[in-house]
Amino acid sequence: MLDTKEGVVNRRRLTIYTIPGILCLLLVIVLIPAVLVHLTRGYRDFQQKRQEALQANLGGARAVAIAFQTYLRDNARMQEVLGEAIRRTPGRSQYDLDELYTHLVRTNSTWQDWHWVSPEGHILSSSQPAIIGRSIVDEPYFQSVANGKSDWAISGLYRDPVTDEPIFTVATNIRDDRNRLLGVSLVSVDPLQLDMLFTRRRPPGTVYMLIDRNGTLAYRQPHRTLTWQQRKLLTRWPFLAVALRGEEVTGSAQGMDSVQRIFAMSPVESTGWIAAVSSPEQATMGPVRRDFIRDIVFFLLLSGTAFTLALIVTRHLTGPLNRLCQFTRHVANGELDRRVSVTGPVELTELAAALNRMTVDLQERTTQLEWERARAGELATQESRYAETLRVLIQTVPAGIIQCDREGNFVLLNPMAVEMLGEEAKGGNAFGPMEGFEFFTADGAPFPLRDMPLSRALTEGAVIRDLELCVRCPDGREVILLSSSGPLCDTAGNISGAVAVVQDITPLHQLQEERELFIHTISHDLRTPLTIIQGHTQMLADLLTETTVDGGMTSVDAIMRAASRINVMIRDLVDSARLAGHTMELHAETVEIRAYLENLLQRAAAGMEVSRIRLELPDALPPVRADYDRLERIIMNLLSNALKYSPPEEPVTISAHQEEDSVVISITDRGIGISPEDLTNLFERFYRAHGAREIEGIGLGLYITRLLVEAHGGRIWAESTPGEGSTFSFILPMA
Ligand code: ADP
Repeated sequence: MLDTKEGVVNRRRLTIYTIPGILCLLLVIVLIPAVLVHLTRGYRDFQQKRQEALQANLGGARAVAIAFQTYLRDNARMQEVLGEAIRRTPGRSQYDLDELYTHLVRTNSTWQDWHWVSPEGHILSSSQPAIIGRSIVDEPYFQSVANGKSDWAISGLYRDPVTDEPIFTVATNIRDDRNRLLGVSLVSVDPLQLDMLFTRRRPPGTVYMLIDRNGTLAYRQPHRTLTWQQRKLLTRWPFLAVALRGEEVTGSAQGMDSVQRIFAMSPVESTGWIAAVSSPEQATMGPVRRDFIRDIVFFLLLSGTAFTLALIVTRHLTGPLNRLCQFTRHVANGELDRRVSVTGPVELTELAAALNRMTVDLQERTTQLEWERARAGELATQESRYAETLRVLIQTVPAGIIQCDREGNFVLLNPMAVEMLGEEAKGGNAFGPMEGFEFFTADGAPFPLRDMPLSRALTEGAVIRDLELCVRCPDGREVILLSSSGPLCDTAGNISGAVAVVQDITPLHQLQEERELFIHTISHDLRTPLTIIQGHTQMLADLLTETTVDGGMTSVDAIMRAASRINVMIRDLVDSARLAGHTMELHAETVEIRAYLENLLQRAAAGMEVSRIRLELPDALPPVRADYDRLERIIMNLLSNALKYSPPEEPVTISAHQEEDSVVISITDRGIGISPEDLTNLFERFYRAHGAREIEGIGLGLYITRLLVEAHGGRIWAESTPGEGSTFSFILPMA
């Protein structure tokens, strides 16, 4: 399986955490029980076949045993017949006996020789004369029949003393009527002649055997030339010993033909011999084994195919998966313009489409995020610049700044605030205590802390502007402060603190006092000689009228006008200074405009061309609230300007009308008018319009008029068309 990381292709180890690993595990999980079941069944079949073969052999062995035993019994019976003959004819000669035996041997092909043995064990007569006289008293089979343990007995296989061929002997005791042993009849049997016992068709490869009680192979069908040693070879089989103990036994061992064989042994009753049948294991188990091997091969082929298919399926899955994996790594590395395309299972193609959609989404979001980050960076830079600006501003602004928290504790005092109030103010609190500090109003009355701008900003959330108060600091200094403050709110709109800006206006107060002194000096010290000049000029005029000196009156008039102008200028200068310092006191009262104006024009008739002035007032005009003298000054200023800046034959109109709870009074002339650029600055101090500079005036009249109107709480403005005339209007509150 392939794994690509940073362009390097690695081979992933096959573990159960990989798809091929899981598939293989699943296959193994499925195949192992199948193999086990198959092996179990195969083993069971094998065992069953083997058991069947063993049982068949055991059946054969029993049949062989029964045939051999039947044969031995028949032998015994024939010998009993012989004994009967001997008993009935006691006087029978040796010759007769020989003849009888010879007859019997001839009738029974298995018998090779015969012997007649005396009760003492000596061979009295024999078909082999050479052994007559020998004693067989020690032979177990003789003992067995001689002492009456059994009627007949069989020897083990032994070599014929004459022919040296392997034979065995069957002994039968012959007794008289009173059961006395007359002798023992022996017949030697050539095992090769026993074929007649097993005429049944022998299955191919099957071997019948008779083994004597010593484990010596006595008979084998099919025949085989065996040495004595080969006959003894069977004793190496462990199961032979079991069979010799009289038990039926089955087993597998290598036969004399070096072929692996299945053996079954059955004891031949009352002989100690064993009948055995063997068949080649290959012949019996071969088909089973072949089937088993065929099934195993088939199974292995099936497994191999399954694994191959699993690998193909895995490739089919892991190929697209690897590509998806690689794609996600690229995306994780920030290559968001990549797209993936896979062919394979529909789930994977859908996954690829979903990943593509996700990447597009991610790309858009990342772009947005980057933009926002850049914006945030800009904002942060801007903010830090603002913060720095603010810091420098707070440090250097020529005003004291005090910030307090929600509880009123001072958390910030800039150097100017510390300079104004002293170091002791640093631990202060807007609600107190302010140890060592005393606060007063401008009139000298105590100023309670709760009414301080900071306290009110905290408690009421109020924005206080330009509150004047006097502070006596712990070091004894007295400072007059102009304080403004406002609350600080958090994002939820709750008050979290307050800020106050304080200005030390002590020098301003001193300046104001000095100006008052200056104004007083001008109004008093300058007017006094001017009054003298005017008095004496008036006296001079009276004298000149009486004496009628030519040209004298003209000079006196000029002096009087100049003096009057100086007086007006001094008055205007003093008034403008007073008004700018806010020290003018108004004595407001209710004024009926019509009556007031008629009276005013009457009084002004001496020094003004009142004949040009017209009153156009509505009948129901509400009274206004104004200072009599200041209102006169306002109207006189406007009327004198209107008369001054219009031709002598043109009228000047005074009109008025109510507007909501105010009254608007307008003075209109048909004079030179005012250009638009002059209109905006007309009410400034010392301002004169361009076209009017050759006409007398210093540019304070309209300035004073504006301040007086504003002192009444009103407003003044002008409208004009150059060359056609102007209208000056002002507004006064209704009484
Ligand atoms: P001044 O002493 O020059 O009259 P004012 O303050 O009374 O000073 O007037 C300022 C200027 O406004 C004048 O110089 C003049 O140019 C202009 N002005 C005032 N009233 C009128 C008017 N009715 N018509 C034209 N110009 C006027």
